Formats: sequence, structure tokens, C-alpha cells
Amino acid sequence: MIDSGLEETIRKEGFKGEIRTQVPMREFTSFKIGGPADILFPRDLEDLQILINAFQKDGVRYQLLGNGTNLLVLDSGVRKPLINLCQGFDKIKKEGTRVTAGGGVGLPQLLHFCVQNALSGLEPLAGIPGTVGGGIRMNAGSQGMEMGKVISSLTVMNHTGRIKRLKREEVNFNYRGIDLPAGNIILEAEFPLQRGKREKIRDEMEHFLRRKKETQPLSSPSAGSIFKNPQGVSAGELIEGVGLKGFRLGDAMVSPLHANFIVNLGSARAKDVLDLIELIRKRVYQEMGVKLELEVVVLGEPEMEG
Ligand SMILES: Cc1cc2nc3c(=O)[nH]c(=O)nc-3n(C[C@H](O)[C@H](O)[C@H](O)COP(=O)(O)OP(=O)(O)OC[C@H]3O[C@@H](n4cnc5c(N)ncnc54)[C@H](O)[C@@H]3O)c2cc1C
Repeated sequence: MIDSGLEETIRKEGFKGEIRTQVPMREFTSFKIGGPADILFPRDLEDLQILINAFQKDGVRYQLLGNGTNLLVLDSGVRKPLINLCQGFDKIKKEGTRVTAGGGVGLPQLLHFCVQNALSGLEPLAGIPGTVGGGIRMNAGSQGMEMGKVISSLTVMNHTGRIKRLKREEVNFNYRGIDLPAGNIILEAEFPLQRGKREKIRDEMEHFLRRKKETQPLSSPSAGSIFKNPQGVSAGELIEGVGLKGFRLGDAMVSPLHANFIVNLGSARAKDVLDLIELIRKRVYQEMGVKLELEVVVLGEPEMEG
């Protein structure tokens, strides 16, 4: 938590950004679930450096928050302060066909930029609602394309405030993840794109988005896929196979459209979702012998749960 002493220190050091304390995370997550957290919105690199220095001095651990589209935040909230880059690291630059986007840029915004500038290469990512930083952290992907395949480098700040540019080859991307030490902040990434025809790029994005809309519950609150697909099988098919499609606990329901999505019907609590996750895991393991691994990131301190 950001106590008044820490807030005062940060302000004295010249932090210009917004500090919001004890905001309900249901307002900052696509799942519309989660208790309170403190969120800091650095305006620029200097602001971020001030935060990291203050946290390091006081031994405060922090976590990044992107668009909150891959998160399940516990009902009791999050003690660690959250840093959100959307108010300062939101620029997109272009040099020829090479695009550099800040960690806080929304992927839909980046795709829109590509259409405007007739740049091709990111079309299959249409419909992923995260940010560049969150997308790279999760190695988000769709239609056989993933973030790790479309960047040429990324710039990160570590927990001591040191900034480093890493080439794509220096980073180990895996299925829905990346090997980055805790506390590393993705500041920006470079995308080597190709020149294309604007209409064709737009049509392709619309095609991918349409396909997504037909198969995924995009208009209901969710956090995207709950589980990673095990090798060679789809988690959705396994869940459907054990008869849990449409199953409901409180206001948390296995989507009748796509069984690997849990949707919030209105006032689902994190506890409902976690109970449903456990039930799904148990049934799939008992009946199919497969252990499902979470794709969604659970944020908060379990010991605080009542
Ligand atoms: C309707 C819907 C559809 C989706 N479809 C897809 C899909 O097709 N494919 C797919 O892969 N995912 C999909 N997702 C999941 C989600 O959109 C992606 O994982 C996305 O990349 C998460 O980005 P975010 O900014 O929302 O990150 P958040 O959810 O805010 O955070 C996710 C993780 O990234 C970390 N993080 C965030 N920003 C940074 C940063 N700058 N530096 C370091 N770490 C950071 C956070 O600490 C957290 O651990 C979908 C989600 C929804 C709700």
C-alpha cells in the first residue's frame, strides 16, 4: 500500500503523475472483479525512476498493471502498489516501416495506427484488448501469431531503475509468457512491419475480429482464456467434454460460447471464479487425466481472503 509517508516522499522527489489509492479493481479489470488497490500513473521516465528508487529504498514490491484484461484480482484487493503506464508511455513512433510503441499503448490503438499508416504484420492480433507491455509479458497471441514473433527488441527497466534494450533473440518467449525477472517493466517495443495496402490490412483485421466474436464471449466481462491449452488439446474442448459448458457458481459462469472463458454475469466475486476454476480443474483431471494450468494472472494476497 502507498501510505502517506511514501506518497509524501514521492511527491517531494517531484513525481508528477496521478496517485489513486484504494480504488476498486473491478473498475480496472475486464473481468469487473476485484477489491481495492493503489495505482500509480507515472507521466514519464523520470516519474518512473522516482517510484522505483522510492520502492527500492523502502523495500516495497510492486506490480505492473496494463489494461487488466488478463487478471483475476482477489476480493480483498492487492497490497502491492500497481504501476500503470497508460498515461505516460503511450506514444507510437514510426521510422519507415519500423514502429516503436510504448508499454502503455493499447494493442487496439497500435493496430489502428497500422491501418492508418498502411503497415502490415500485426493483423492476427486484432481483438486482443491488452497493452503492448501486458501483451509482451503474456506473449499474447492469436491465429498462430504471438507478440514474441512480431517484435525485434524491447526496452525494460529493472527493479533498480536500470534501463536495458534487449534484442528479440536475447529474450526467451514461451507459450503465454516470457522469462523476465520479477519487477522488470516493459517500457517499449519495436515492431519491424511491412508496407501493405490499407484496405487489405483493415479487411484482414476485421476478418480476424469477426471470427473471434463468433467464437468468444467478447461482450461479457471476462479475462480471456482462463487456462493454457495443454500440449495438443484445447482447454475449452476438455472443459466441454466434462460437461461444464454453461455451468454456473454464483455469478461466475463457464461461457456457453467458449468453455475456456469464465464470464461475470454481473456481481461475481473472485471467490466464485476461483471455486469454479478448482471445480473445472478437478473434473478435467479426474475424467480426462489432464492438469489444467492457469493462463489468467491472479493478483492479490490469498492470506487476506476472508
Ligand atoms: C475478451 C478478451 C479476449 C482476449 N483474447 C486474447 C487472445 O486472443 N490472445 C491472448 O493471448 N490473450 C487474450 N486475452 C488476454 C489479454 O488480453 C492478454 O493477455 C493481454 O496481453 C494482457 O494485456 P494487459 O495490458 O491487459 O495486461 P494485464 O492484464 O494488465 O497484466 C497481465 C500481466 O502483465 C503484466 N504487465 C502489464 N504491463 C506490463 C509492463 N509494461 N511490463 C511488465 N509487465 C507488465 C502484469 O503485471 C500482469 O502480470 C483476451 C482477454 C479478453 C478479456
